[in-house]
Amino acid sequence: MHPFAPAGTRDLRQRILDLKAEQNALILAHNYQMPEIQDIADLIGDSLALSQQAAEAGAEVIVFCGVKFMAESAKILSPGKTILHPDEGSVCPMAAMVDAETVRLLRAEHPDAAVVAYVNTTAEVKAEVDICCTSANAVKTIERLPERDIVFIPDMNLGLYVRRLVPGKNIILYPGYCPTHNDITLRQVLDIKTAHPGAEIMAHPESIPEVLDHADGVFSTEGMIRYSLDSPAREFIVVTEREMTYRLAMEARKAGLDKVYYPIPTAICPNMKRITLEKVLRSLETSSPAIHLPPDIVQRARKPLDRMLEIGR
Ligand code: 13P
Ligand code: SF4
Repeated sequence: MHPFAPAGTRDLRQRILDLKAEQNALILAHNYQMPEIQDIADLIGDSLALSQQAAEAGAEVIVFCGVKFMAESAKILSPGKTILHPDEGSVCPMAAMVDAETVRLLRAEHPDAAVVAYVNTTAEVKAEVDICCTSANAVKTIERLPERDIVFIPDMNLGLYVRRLVPGKNIILYPGYCPTHNDITLRQVLDIKTAHPGAEIMAHPESIPEVLDHADGVFSTEGMIRYSLDSPAREFIVVTEREMTYRLAMEARKAGLDKVYYPIPTAICPNMKRITLEKVLRSLETSSPAIHLPPDIVQRARKPLDRMLEIGR
């Protein structure tokens, strides 16, 4: 737990842990969750790790601390489980940039193309596509597809990044983006680099191309942990959502390594921050809000998610 957590937080935390044990529930948290949420989670990870965990977990109840598409993926992969999402309004604006009807139109326009959806999409969109991917396996996924033409939705920056690494494919882009990453400027990154010239730059592929051009490495959020722990460098500029530095510092501490992580202070995903300890407690007390999806959507969205998990990291 955060060493300066106030007494009220300690009490809330204990009530959550007691209820969690009583209900044999599992708390999954994305790397962008607030420190106090990361501290109560059974597993913290990137979208791929959380999907893998949701598919394999033995627990009957999963409290999903992340944005809605992540909790929906957990429901699709484990439809018999109760998936609690403590704040229904915690949604990813990028996922809202493409709908199922648009995917159907894109497919009609490009009948020979494979349609690949970044996992940051709604369940209805996943139900229309051939395969999903996360930032951890987008390159591997697209490399392996037999089709040369690929419709990639919805993140343009991730699509541009894959296009650089897989030049043999014709990647048809869609104009979606993550506001949190898209707003990070090269100037911000270079100003931190000037202040800390020895620091390596790790960037998430949702960032703009000119930022990626200056990165020492491009990774999913979980990939940043592996890279920085293995790197001989001590300092890192973390070009993604701010809270990632909390998780990175936690893992470095656990590994007994002296590492320093510099966040982009303005890179905040307000939707991730909607999940609070109070809401986690309330959702365990009331078994709500729970994710409910139409059975045909679950059935059709399952295939592209299973294909994504088969590819793995
Ligand atoms: P990761 O899968 O890399 O954690 O990314 C999820 C996300 O929403 C990034 O903004
Ligand atoms: Fe969506 Fe961006 Fe927030 Fe990730 S950081 S959940 S892509 S808005």
